[in-house]
Amino acid sequence: MLDIEGLFAESTDVLRYPMTDREPLDSWGEGGVTFMGDAGHPMHPIGANGGSQAILDGQAIAEHLTGVDLRDGAAVDTALRAYEDERRPVTNDVVMANRKLNKTERSIANKTQNELKEFAESGEFEEMQKKYAKGEFDEL
Ligand SMILES: Cc1cc2nc3c(=O)[nH]c(=O)nc-3n(C[C@H](O)[C@H](O)[C@H](O)COP(=O)(O)OP(=O)(O)OC[C@H]3O[C@@H](n4cnc5c(N)ncnc54)[C@H](O)[C@@H]3O)c2cc1C
Repeated sequence: MLDIEGLFAESTDVLRYPMTDREPLDSWGEGGVTFMGDAGHPMHPIGANGGSQAILDGQAIAEHLTGVDLRDGAAVDTALRAYEDERRPVTNDVVMANRKLNKTERSIANKTQNELKEFAESGEFEEMQKKYAKGEFDEL
């Protein structure tokens, strides 16, 4: 069994890793340098999109570099720019969508027990779920 209180009591250093995002970037790199994962698109990790978008970057970069002679600087440059053109617009959209959804999540998290009950019974939550499924991200 985990001794949570003991864990806190005996901790000497407490580090904070806030969940936060950054404005989408216009560029991820030049030459043989590029960004992937949080380096390029730190986001509120709604729907596990922080980790999964980093994995999708990895898949895309591997695909673009497949068959490229890594000693050929111009070819690597072209492959990395193509990777960025594929992934940057998509992940920038996710950053902005998650920023909106994060506000909604925080707003739900700040409700009292009674407010949550009323919210769940009002049909508003069901309506929101339908909108999420269609990719419509209304703020509360
Ligand atoms: C509190 C919190 C909760 C989260 N919850 C979720 C969640 O539930 N689901 C989800 O999908 N995402 C979540 N995320 C986001 C998720 O952790 C990140 O999106 C994801 O880890 C990004 O992966 P990455 O490989 O790009 O970067 P990272 O996982 O940050 O990896 C970067 C690595 O590089 C290392 N590094 C840094 N500088 C150097 C250097 N100079 N030399 C060598 N190594 C270096 C770092 O130590 C680190 O290991 C959460 C984030 C936070 C902070």
